[in-house]
Amino acid sequence: MSEYKYNDATKIIHDTVRPDPQTGAVNAPVYFSSTFAQKDPLELGKYDYARSGNPTRDQVEESIANLEGGSRGFAFATGMAAITAAFLTLHQGDHIIITKDVYGGTFRLVTELLPNYGISHTFVDLNDEDALEAAYQENTKVVYAETPSNPTLTVVDLEATAKSAHAHGALLFADNTFMTPLYQKPLSLGADLVIHSATKFLSGHSDILAGLVVTNDAALGDAVYFIQNAMGATLSVGDCWLLLRGLKTLKVRLQTETENATKLAQWLQQQPAVKAVNYPGLESDKNYAIQSKQALSGGAVLSFDIASEDNVRTLVQHLKLPIFSVSLGAVETILSYPCTMSHAELSPDEQQASGVTPGLLRLSAGLEDFEDLKQDFAQALTYIPASSTTQPKPAVAEG
Ligand SMILES: *Cc1c(COP(=O)(O)O)cnc(C)c1O
Repeated sequence: MSEYKYNDATKIIHDTVRPDPQTGAVNAPVYFSSTFAQKDPLELGKYDYARSGNPTRDQVEESIANLEGGSRGFAFATGMAAITAAFLTLHQGDHIIITKDVYGGTFRLVTELLPNYGISHTFVDLNDEDALEAAYQENTKVVYAETPSNPTLTVVDLEATAKSAHAHGALLFADNTFMTPLYQKPLSLGADLVIHSATKFLSGHSDILAGLVVTNDAALGDAVYFIQNAMGATLSVGDCWLLLRGLKTLKVRLQTETENATKLAQWLQQQPAVKAVNYPGLESDKNYAIQSKQALSGGAVLSFDIASEDNVRTLVQHLKLPIFSVSLGAVETILSYPCTMSHAELSPDEQQASGVTPGLLRLSAGLEDFEDLKQDFAQALTYIPASSTTQPKPAVAEG
């Protein structure tokens, strides 16, 4: 008889609350120990040196692997460390095909650091079948997707992209930060490796930096483990504990944050000062069809365009509730300005090409009361000059 598989909500609690066999403590013991005493000089125990493995990190890694439906998980000091480790599975002379509007830090890594090691790349709109087909080279080893993307919330069809990558002998890596495994499971759609900035929804409280990688293939898992140990950017045990603590409430946080995002997206769409709203949870959104095929929800992040940087400054000055800052996926609503924040690494031309327009703001909905958020936006939007609010809408409403 096959083993009964728990649903995600149960899985999270079952994996993060495991009474310690020795003491019964329901929370993971935090083993602040860099080294572990050995009994047998010829046969070391499961733990020897904490970079190679420790019980607190094990619990995080097993939890995320189970939740993503993978066989192994790996915890890193930051999301960028996780992404770097994933790319280190490549070798000199290899080529990456990467989604056009990728996270700014990933863009910097791929364009400025990896070329020093002989790893080249091509940026492609992964939904453009012809462009994707044309981008493959003999040495293409990885197709890298991030969906929905940041900050235009563009959705990539993971199943189709995985098929395409595999047909060319390449692997699909997917950054699943925006969706979390509760809404989207890239491995089940064909991806070979999943990445998270656990700084965001998974920990959820703007208190730590953390990154995760999940694999299903044994050889790929061994490769990532080797790199994790060799590169050394592992997640500290204190931060492992905070990540486990955050993970326990992921479902309720994400549900409420998504509800707020959906209502705000609908409301913002009706405001004359708002040129366009990007949110794949809206039926009117150009990404809705693919999003609803591969994910359970549009998520808790949206972006909207208010036409100019002057308007952005005015709006931000008058808003009282959202925290205006970098980052997302937290209990507080976070508003950010991609032009000077997440996408500052891109030149103005690259920003324009990626849809990072001067009037674009990204919002990650928090746990505040929706009516309060709405009222706050309503009062702040009244300060946007009428002239810029009456501009004709572009034929294609997108950021
Ligand atoms: C934040 C983020 C990262 C980088 O993670 P850090 O924890 O900041 O290093 C990567 N991808 C996405 C989609 C992100 O939002």
